[in-house]
Amino acid sequence: MTVLDALPRPAQKRIALHVAPAAERALRAGHPWVFESAIRKQSREGAPGDLAVIFDAKDRFLAVGLYDPASPIRVRVLQQGQSAAIDRAWFADRLSAAAAIREPLAAQGTTGYRLVHGENDGLPGLILDRYADTLVLKLYTAAWLPHLRDVLAALDEVHPSPRLILRLSRGVADLAAPYGLSDGLALVGDAPDAPVIFEENGLRFAADVVHGHKTGFFFDQRDNRARVRDLAAGRRVLDVFAYSGGFSVYAAAGGAESVLSVDVSAPALEAAAANMALNADNPRVQDAKHDILVEDAFVALERLRAEGQVFDLVIVDPPSFAKSAAEVDRALASYARLARLAVGLAAEDGMVVLASCSSRVTPDQFFETVTRAADDAGRPLVWPYRTGHALDHPVGFPEGEYLKCLYATVMDE
Ligand code: SAH
Repeated sequence: MTVLDALPRPAQKRIALHVAPAAERALRAGHPWVFESAIRKQSREGAPGDLAVIFDAKDRFLAVGLYDPASPIRVRVLQQGQSAAIDRAWFADRLSAAAAIREPLAAQGTTGYRLVHGENDGLPGLILDRYADTLVLKLYTAAWLPHLRDVLAALDEVHPSPRLILRLSRGVADLAAPYGLSDGLALVGDAPDAPVIFEENGLRFAADVVHGHKTGFFFDQRDNRARVRDLAAGRRVLDVFAYSGGFSVYAAAGGAESVLSVDVSAPALEAAAANMALNADNPRVQDAKHDILVEDAFVALERLRAEGQVFDLVIVDPPSFAKSAAEVDRALASYARLARLAVGLAAEDGMVVLASCSSRVTPDQFFETVTRAADDAGRPLVWPYRTGHALDHPVGFPEGEYLKCLYATVMDE
């Protein structure tokens, strides 16, 4: 691991911070972020990854976290309430606690899942996904760089693995480049020369862990995919924003008559076809007619409608539409449009599955918006059923609750 030798070491001296009363209250309640705007006093300027200690108005310890001068989230809290040495043993404790939560998954024919979900597992800005024997570590803040050596040592203790791939968010990639770290670098073992194969609920998938979205696969939808499998028998299924065909494969395995996967990305749909093929030993997958359609979803849905096509199960799982508060209204308008298009393509008594992963859009906003859109289209949703997060994506704070999904039957007025 010679590349790690070049990394900066954590500073010996911690930064002392005082914050506004509202931020103090939030920290006491367990919120993991301190915004730049909440800082009232700071002992010195800090480098990415310096440990910052936040004190209350009476100079009592409140929390310790990772300082990030490049982000409006200036400190990401590691521990609150009680001081601690942040070292290899501390990281190992957090990794072990996160692993314990996920234990049930292995018994469900699942070797691909999220081992660490950032803030929600007490390791803010750090994601760890498992793809069978391959681990993928994704960093969303350069504040982790000085601690990477300790994190990797802890990982080797808790999750020894023959391969570990590093993924970096765009901003972090620039800051990590001078140390010889790059997005997709193999930190343990060799970079895979083909997509990595893993299992989810007994089905096989391949993921490009080096270049794929996030770390290569959207594990957060596992439970929703399993529900779709239960609902798919004999149905004509439309999977919109299909990516590598997660929902499509489950629908086929559930006995769908046909599956049409729509995505704007041709490579994503090639992966979807490959994932179908990986499960061809399953007679239901073999029997389902699978088609792919590379097209903008909004355009494709309008066109399918104009052609008079109908589906018994329409799944719509778009990317995040609102990354900032300013984008919420536009995101809601897009969800409404997609819901209107989806119900328009549903057969009588057909079903829709509508998902949102925009953390800025609350579950109520999303469910109300799509329900109203369906009403306005004259195809109201009945027997609605809502779902949230899977167990490997725990919700540790309000902003951590991003995934919501609505299942409903479409009624003719
Ligand atoms: N349902 C998938 C995850 C979807 S991720 C799963 O279960 O794995 C979002 C997908 O939307 C990406 O594959 C991206 O290529 C696609 N996408 C983004 N904008 C799009 C658009 N305007 N039309 C169609 N697909 C789009």
